[in-house]
Amino acid sequence: MKLAARVQQVTPSMTLAISAKAKAMKAEGLDVCSFSAGEPDFDTPGHIREAAKQALDSGKTRYGPAAGEPRLRSAIATKLRTENQLPYSAENIIVTNGGKHSLYTLIMTAVEPGDEVLIPAPYWVSYPEMVKLAGGTPVIMPTTVQSGYKITPEQLHQAITPKTKFLIFNSPSNPTGMVYHPDEVKALAEVVLAHDIWVVADEIYEKILYDGAQHLSMGAVSDAMFARTITSNGFAKAYAMTGWRLGYLAGPPELIDAAITLQSQSTSNVCTFAQYGAISALESSQDCVTTMLQAFAQRRTAIVKLVNSIPGLSCAVPSGAFYLFIDIGKTGLSSMDFCNRLLNEKYVAAIPGVAFGDDAGIRISYATDMPTIERGMERLNDFVQQVI
Ligand SMILES: *Cc1c(COP(=O)(O)O)cnc(C)c1O
Repeated sequence: MKLAARVQQVTPSMTLAISAKAKAMKAEGLDVCSFSAGEPDFDTPGHIREAAKQALDSGKTRYGPAAGEPRLRSAIATKLRTENQLPYSAENIIVTNGGKHSLYTLIMTAVEPGDEVLIPAPYWVSYPEMVKLAGGTPVIMPTTVQSGYKITPEQLHQAITPKTKFLIFNSPSNPTGMVYHPDEVKALAEVVLAHDIWVVADEIYEKILYDGAQHLSMGAVSDAMFARTITSNGFAKAYAMTGWRLGYLAGPPELIDAAITLQSQSTSNVCTFAQYGAISALESSQDCVTTMLQAFAQRRTAIVKLVNSIPGLSCAVPSGAFYLFIDIGKTGLSSMDFCNRLLNEKYVAAIPGVAFGDDAGIRISYATDMPTIERGMERLNDFVQQVI
């Protein structure tokens, strides 16, 4: 069958592909250290699992409203009002099948051929592909280790054209772990407000912050900015719920209504009993988040030290998420060759930066246990000393 042009131009997710290869090698009995997966290594906290089990046993097994369970929509609105200073109400919220799906739904709802979408690089792998699926044009804004992997207001100003629809803003960032300081968020917001564009704020890592780093939601900068922001978030990263597939989008009612219509003709509602787990995640104590964060913080300190002690490699110290973006420039290898050889020769899985639009680096996820971190970094060191 002849496939639609739409899918022929889309690149499969390299992060999922490499994680799958590492898993397959492990299944063959090889001793693989995997730093490829972008997911917490913890189990979902017990009280969240219990809430979903109870919902399952009490008959929450049927179709629900396409927009999401009313109780969950209102719990999300309350969370956004109190934690993020974003004055949303329940009708501003759509519950989606994960943060990835909320961005997909938004892009399908808002982007048309001819529209340009600004994406700072290194970027999350799915942003440009989703824009292309919608027929839009991704406009990549490169950053470097010297700029702290952050765009500047001047750079944003330069990139805006009459065709620009919105900027996708991801802080804390996957793959770099960089967090924009509140003053930097405000400075970018000023440029946005001086033009006729929107911001899509992907805040999935908002709770994973280190060393006192602060997260300011783009929509909380001012009333004017709130009116120009669409917020995307989910439960996967903060609550170790990657497999549950639960996310949400918050924005103006006319946009959310259109997204609900799209969802009603594509996926329908998100798994009903899973949504009750999400309600519990939001309404119960947040201690579980703090506990996981402490573990990430310890690993981060250890891994940054190990990587920066490897001659030939360097990495900027991330203040959020659970990734390191390591500069491999001195090895002279492309990021793809580097990662392929590292996996084949040393059984260490990392993601080539080229997947994120930056061939000078590789991404390592430290959402894994300390022994794996120690063994993996030793092997990474061996490999680098062999190639340089
Ligand atoms: C993990 C992630 C998401 C969403 O993941 P879901 O599992 O679909 O909730 C969104 N944006 C970024 C940058 C991510 O890393």
